[in-house]
Amino acid sequence: MLYHSTRNKALAVSSAEAIAQGIAADGGLFVPESIPELTAADFEALKGLSYAERAARLFKLYLTDFTDEELRECTKNAYESGSFETANVQEIATLADGSMLLELWHGPTCAFKDMALQILPHFLTRSIKKTGTDKEVVILTATSGDTGKAALAGFKDVPGTKIMVFYPEDGVSSMQKRQMQTQEGENVCVCAVKGNFDDCQNGVKAIFTDPDMQKALDDNGMQFSSANSINWGRLVPQIVYYVSAYVTMLEKGILKAGDRFCVTVPTGNFGNILAAWYAKQMGVPIHHLVCASNINNVLTDFINTGVYDRSRDFHATVSPSMDILISSNLERLLYHMTGENDAQIREWFTALKTDGKYAIPTELKNRIQAEFSGSFYDDAKTKAMIGKVFSENGYLSDTHTAVGICAARDYQAAAGAEYPMLIASTANPYKFGAAVLEAIGGKADGADEYETLDLLRAKSGMEIPQALAELKTKAVRFSDVVAQDAMPAYVKERLGIQ
Ligand SMILES: *Cc1c(COP(=O)(O)O)cnc(C)c1O
Repeated sequence: MLYHSTRNKALAVSSAEAIAQGIAADGGLFVPESIPELTAADFEALKGLSYAERAARLFKLYLTDFTDEELRECTKNAYESGSFETANVQEIATLADGSMLLELWHGPTCAFKDMALQILPHFLTRSIKKTGTDKEVVILTATSGDTGKAALAGFKDVPGTKIMVFYPEDGVSSMQKRQMQTQEGENVCVCAVKGNFDDCQNGVKAIFTDPDMQKALDDNGMQFSSANSINWGRLVPQIVYYVSAYVTMLEKGILKAGDRFCVTVPTGNFGNILAAWYAKQMGVPIHHLVCASNINNVLTDFINTGVYDRSRDFHATVSPSMDILISSNLERLLYHMTGENDAQIREWFTALKTDGKYAIPTELKNRIQAEFSGSFYDDAKTKAMIGKVFSENGYLSDTHTAVGICAARDYQAAAGAEYPMLIASTANPYKFGAAVLEAIGGKADGADEYETLDLLRAKSGMEIPQALAELKTKAVRFSDVVAQDAMPAYVKERLGIQ
């Protein structure tokens, strides 16, 4: 299996190269030359296997330059080394209305990002070796909160790597900030940026493409790579959990082979929902995909109008990991849905950069609407849904998942609930404790993040995850704050390559 750039189909690299590079030199994203298809017998064969075994078999279809042993080693290290709190890795909870929550947050940092970031370091270090370089990899990551911590946890003390994470100073929850500031490990660095997530992301992108910086790294035997969902090595583990969830629903008798179901995904960068779309192309019988947003509703508008327009106000919400105006992975969907029209993708994404928007033809918009719908919810509706789901089911959902539940219920009401609904549950509610506590009628009133954990526990009865409770005893190691334009100098200083 070779990988093309969405902006240049003539470019063809191995999966190891795609993962090692992270992003193509032309600014495009790596996409597989074809999408493997699974038969009913293939799904049948995945029954009874552990999550790690299922993952290894599915990775084999995409990462063809890895051996079976290598893939099994990677999945064992990621999913069977005790870093996930449940043996199944992912869990499915069912609400009274029959909708199902695919809980993806049982990993070490309590958000779904762990599903991919626990394995990416294993893929990446092997990919670097396969591509014949022995440079030190510097992972540079902009985060709206969850990616940063999950990447730090994944890359902590991995030989041959360093990781630097930038987050918006006031754009993450206090628990997310704590998780990052207390990160242990000799090869890690965390820094706040004055500005919002897009400022962080732009700062990081500018560093990636700065020729001076490239040279400085080169001279010092280093190379950059990315842990953001633009890296194919993050997307492919996300496809796995949708395939695996389908197999689990078959095992449990929730579905019969071939029965269709719908999927709702609370969305920011469009990575998670795109993984569900790939799973559908592979043969998972997904009837419809619902893209749920907060009031940063650029994707809802895009799905409804066919115009992607990032020129709008940025809003900080109670679901900060979805406070994003540039959803990078949409580029991959458009590439596939235009019949791999790289020239068209170049044109649209150049327009996005220069004019802040692009418009797709009606015919394509109609095809997208046949597969996706979008809707968005403000903080008040999000919190009301957390309260409603808690009082109806005793089930506590986080703010992002609640946006998904809102969208799923509206879609089911409009579509007559013809098919079962699976909602991606993306974070443990304790990560966003203050908002969740308020949503179920409690008050955080000046409580710090640890007191908030206890208050939420008392009110909800749900257990506090060990990984968050233990932060209290950990020292803050990182408190630097820089302006966006000071990021390059900061990176050089921290890497010691002045
Ligand atoms: C990252 C994140 C999202 C958004 O996922 P994308 O793949 O960026 O669309 C949603 N919820 C939570 C909790 C997240 O951490």
